[in-house]
Amino acid sequence: MTTPNQTDSTPVPSDFIRDIVAGEMKAGKHAQIRTRFPPEPNGYLHIGHAKSICLNFGIAHEFGGICNIRMDDTNPTKEETEYVDSIMADVRWLIDGWADKNLGGAPLYTSDYFDKHYEFAVELVRKGKAYVDEMPAEQTDEYRRIGKESPSRSRPVEENLKLFARMKAGEFPNGAKTLRAKIDMQAANVWLRDPVLYRIRHAEHHHTGNKWCIYPMYDWAHTLSDYLEGITHSLCTLEFEVHRPLYEWILNSLELKPPLPRQIEFARLNLTYSVMSKRKLIQLVEDGLVTGWDDPRMLTISGLRRRGVTASALRAFAYNIGITKYPSLNEMALLEHAVREEFNRTAPRRLAVLRPLKVVITNYPEGRVEELDAVNNPEDQAAGSRKIPFSRELFIDAADFMEVPPPKYFRLKPGGEVRLKYAYVIKCDEVVKDAGGNVIELRCTADLESKSGGATSSRKIKGTIHWVSASHAIDAEVRLYDRLFTVPEPDADGDFKSFLNPNSLEILNAKCEPSLADAAADVRYQFERLGYFAFDLDSKPKKLVFNRTITLKDTWAKKSG
Ligand code: ATP
Ligand code: MG
Repeated sequence: MTTPNQTDSTPVPSDFIRDIVAGEMKAGKHAQIRTRFPPEPNGYLHIGHAKSICLNFGIAHEFGGICNIRMDDTNPTKEETEYVDSIMADVRWLIDGWADKNLGGAPLYTSDYFDKHYEFAVELVRKGKAYVDEMPAEQTDEYRRIGKESPSRSRPVEENLKLFARMKAGEFPNGAKTLRAKIDMQAANVWLRDPVLYRIRHAEHHHTGNKWCIYPMYDWAHTLSDYLEGITHSLCTLEFEVHRPLYEWILNSLELKPPLPRQIEFARLNLTYSVMSKRKLIQLVEDGLVTGWDDPRMLTISGLRRRGVTASALRAFAYNIGITKYPSLNEMALLEHAVREEFNRTAPRRLAVLRPLKVVITNYPEGRVEELDAVNNPEDQAAGSRKIPFSRELFIDAADFMEVPPPKYFRLKPGGEVRLKYAYVIKCDEVVKDAGGNVIELRCTADLESKSGGATSSRKIKGTIHWVSASHAIDAEVRLYDRLFTVPEPDADGDFKSFLNPNSLEILNAKCEPSLADAAADVRYQFERLGYFAFDLDSKPKKLVFNRTITLKDTWAKKSG
């Protein structure tokens, strides 16, 4: 067994599915493992899909197998290119450098198997295990519910074959007929009460055009696609546990040649403060409640990526939550933990001021500039240090000054002292205000011996704050995010959109140390004391935009606790 995700620090997980696969491998049941990830291309992928991708590609990779991506395009639609492209981009990004050799070029499509699905259906009819029915959908549902047989159930095979061929030839309107499996109308499991396998829909399909006017239902298409692709383990979420007998019935009734795929279910990911269904996410996009599928507040894979979450942190999260059979609601804090844990190790530290307040060091000569040493990452010696300019006029964060502070306030206050990170201890002598009484400038003096290496460098000062040199600082737009929803379970009751957090985005004009002019899209920065930030796509040559991926500590827990 090879080690996956060599770049990740998270150990390979073990869980009941991996135990099953390992057992079967040991028993020589499979020459090679083959899993699949089968998204319906009707929206962008979300963090729940990430769990499934990490499971399916992870297992394939760990056991030297292959994972297929299959677009589950059983429903005829005209437009899906955007979704297919985004799905492929998201999957490639998420498994990059880890299982990418298992990911071929183009995805597979369920619709590529429509001919074979049809041939299998004809075979099933021939075996007397399926029949054409004309009951309308509601009546079919009702009969299935009460366990009553349709009058067409005993239709002779020859007649069924003819009718099914005529369905395919387009002789009947939508809804006029269906093909149903002939299983057991009294079965305790309702899915086995003669489920519909094909329905008529005169609609154009993105891939097959107008070739078909009958389309296979999910269970038929999915089971046989798994078989046709030689899938060994068909891993799906718990809702499909009740479908498993039908899955097995289909494989056995057709007397297919082994090896047959095996379906195993696991609990889907549910996260607090989020909605996870594509149908709901699409409403947020279409109603303009977010800026798009990749809005950094969305828990889509593209939103998380844009926000600055790395593929390795997302994989670590998916591995940490584990795979079980029991439905549960995971804390958002688990995702945040995975991100902080990685970024603390990897992110270079930088100084930036979000709400600039001018500070003039009155005893520092005009025109003088010192280049001070700043450590890039205290967690990583190899990251070295850089120079940051210090001069007479600086910016500090407005949040680090209070004119009338509470007791034990260790940041800057009138007459008080604070240390400027990597620089001097300063004392606030004078507060300058505008006509409206707003503080617009602080006039301070520096202890010029207090710099590292100076006579008073070891002075014990309780507070240390960040700063930038006013004339050297560069401008950046900084976007701060909060959770999109105000309640832990927005779709528990009522309209989830009524629980949107009105303060989920704040845009600020920040001042950054000059080295951030060279900020790279693939680096996450820690703005000291403020959080971890990532370069946003909106950054243009003349304008820098940073997204705060996450704060340094869990401020949310404090707020609500
Ligand atoms: P949605 O309700 O968001 O549309 P879905 O299950 O209909 O979700 P699909 O595109 O059909 O979306 O899902 C593709 C694969 O991803 C399936 O195998 C499904 O089981 C898995 N998946 C979807 N949501 C989750 C989740 N929350 N946790 C784990 N796996 C998931
Ligand atoms: Mg679906």
